[in-house]
Amino acid sequence: MAVLSQPTLARLRRVSQVAFVAAFLFLLFKSEFTGSFRGAVGDVRLPWPVSLFLEADPLSALTTALSTRTLYRGLWWSLVVLVPTFFLGRFFCGWICPLGTLNHFFGSLRSEKKRGKSLIESNRYKPWQATKYYILVVVLVAAACGTAVAGIVDPIPLTVRSLGLALLPGVHYAFGSLLDVWYQSPVRWVRVGADIVQFLLQGTLVTFRQPHFRQAFILGVMFVGLLALNLRITRFWCRAICPLGALLGLASRWSFVHLVKDQARCDTCNRCLVHCQGGDDPIPGPKWKKAECHLCFNCVGDCPTGGIAFAIGSPVSLSTTVEVPQAQRRKLITGAVAGAALVPLLRSTTGLKVEADSRLIRPPGALDEPHFLERCIRCGECMKVCPNNALHPTFMEGGLEAIWSPVLVPRVGYCEPSCVLCGQACPTGAIWEITVAQKLGKPSGMQTAGETPAPLAAGPLAARPLAARPLAAGPPAARPLAAGPSGTGAPPVQTANPIKIGTAFYDQGRCLPWAMATDCIVCEEWCPTSPKAIYLVTTDITDAESNSKSVRRPYVDPKRCIGCGACEYACPVKDRPAVYVTSVGETRSKTNQFILPAAPKR
Ligand code: SF4
Ligand code: SF4
Ligand code: SF4
Repeated sequence: MAVLSQPTLARLRRVSQVAFVAAFLFLLFKSEFTGSFRGAVGDVRLPWPVSLFLEADPLSALTTALSTRTLYRGLWWSLVVLVPTFFLGRFFCGWICPLGTLNHFFGSLRSEKKRGKSLIESNRYKPWQATKYYILVVVLVAAACGTAVAGIVDPIPLTVRSLGLALLPGVHYAFGSLLDVWYQSPVRWVRVGADIVQFLLQGTLVTFRQPHFRQAFILGVMFVGLLALNLRITRFWCRAICPLGALLGLASRWSFVHLVKDQARCDTCNRCLVHCQGGDDPIPGPKWKKAECHLCFNCVGDCPTGGIAFAIGSPVSLSTTVEVPQAQRRKLITGAVAGAALVPLLRSTTGLKVEADSRLIRPPGALDEPHFLERCIRCGECMKVCPNNALHPTFMEGGLEAIWSPVLVPRVGYCEPSCVLCGQACPTGAIWEITVAQKLGKPSGMQTAGETPAPLAAGPLAARPLAARPLAAGPPAARPLAAGPSGTGAPPVQTANPIKIGTAFYDQGRCLPWAMATDCIVCEEWCPTSPKAIYLVTTDITDAESNSKSVRRPYVDPKRCIGCGACEYACPVKDRPAVYVTSVGETRSKTNQFILPAAPKR
């Protein structure tokens, strides 16, 4: 049996934690598009793999695999975490997980008064630590029944969502306000200081654009509360709640890393319990709970007598170790029943039916709603990456089951026609990765030279190919074959309609030309389609002073409208816009369509 050098490992673990948190924050900062779509050749792409941590999350991979019976391409990265866990144990929790590291850090801020007996006692194993296994069973069974609600409690999506949508925008706001004050200072060196701070923090804590998201306050408070719990109980989240920790704890059952206890050398000073992160009873005497250990190596570093040591390679004595999680079978069965009951309960809640809210406008490329909910882990990457701040977490627009999934809020931002970034950032394929040509319904042959179409069904075991998805469902049907680019000799290329995420409507009681005989063509000017979906009809009217005049009244052509929301965004009627978008007519749905009356036969 090889005994591991414990102080070296504890130092390495600290380095690893800092490095992975830095990498996590770096990718989070880079989940933002700061360039321009104007003059871009080909599709604008994110230069960094911003979803890497989400793709390497075994719980996201397992739950979406259970709910969809497929594994979306990037989620194969999760094997990089899962497979070594079978041999090494929960190294991810102690060495890599960004939320684990934050919990570790905040746990180390506990009051000195707690040190001593009470701290040691609170750091012993507690039966409530088994709660996470019951939560794991609930979310896995719910996933098998067709919903990815696991993302709500999965630590990686939770951290991306909370930091990206709530805390970082708050920090941006604080720095922005501070810099504004400094820039207005009459003292020159204060203004120079502001320049230096801006230069150093640009692109990280200071951004060009101040993002803001709906639900940010709730998400932020919940996350801060979660971190604050560490001041009472070290790593409370990791020990009691985290379903990913539970999954890795189960996998660590077969690990070769063991804690070896030497009762004879132990003088019961209890120091090994003081900094234990997992609450797994490393002290000689009680059995070590293998599935709870985060491999932080604090215990062995703190032991003054060498009474405990980690070793690798040989079987461990069952008299000193509990190898399996301490969960009760009765409660596991209850969790399974709860998970199975969750989906029908969520979907039967009165008034929370899918498509119940006309403002549930999903991003372009989003799968039809049932398939979308099978995949969306509520990570918020799509919302963070949206250059127009158009995507926000839902609250009840899609029902309780869809909470914190993305919805387009056109009054805050519209969907940029040349942008397909949300599909690139989505780690699970809930938003399919489309090209701009596909989004706009251009023939693929019209792409410029060197432009590579996005791999729609790329990667091993990619989810359903485009043709099998309901992306192009509903009327109007795809256009007929068109001629290829002229003069190229290329064969005809299939053209499709643009991807439509909704349809604009006028509130004629509020629209200036309709209700107040006042000319206004803002919406028509903003409409990005070609030809424009908004057209103007000159109408002779009589105004309040009985003068005859002509106004141009806007109309929407629903066949051209893609539901981007630019008209609603730009409408000058401020409080409630006179033109607004609803989800009807969205390409992804077969049922949420207009029933247009058939043309009268002549
Ligand atoms: S919603 Fe539109 S603008 Fe926003 S990221 Fe998606 S494609 Fe881009
Ligand atoms: S749709 Fe958005 S929130 Fe849902 S998994 Fe994809 S990127 Fe994350
Ligand atoms: S009418 Fe409005 S929603 Fe429709 S394409 Fe034009 S700007 Fe976009």
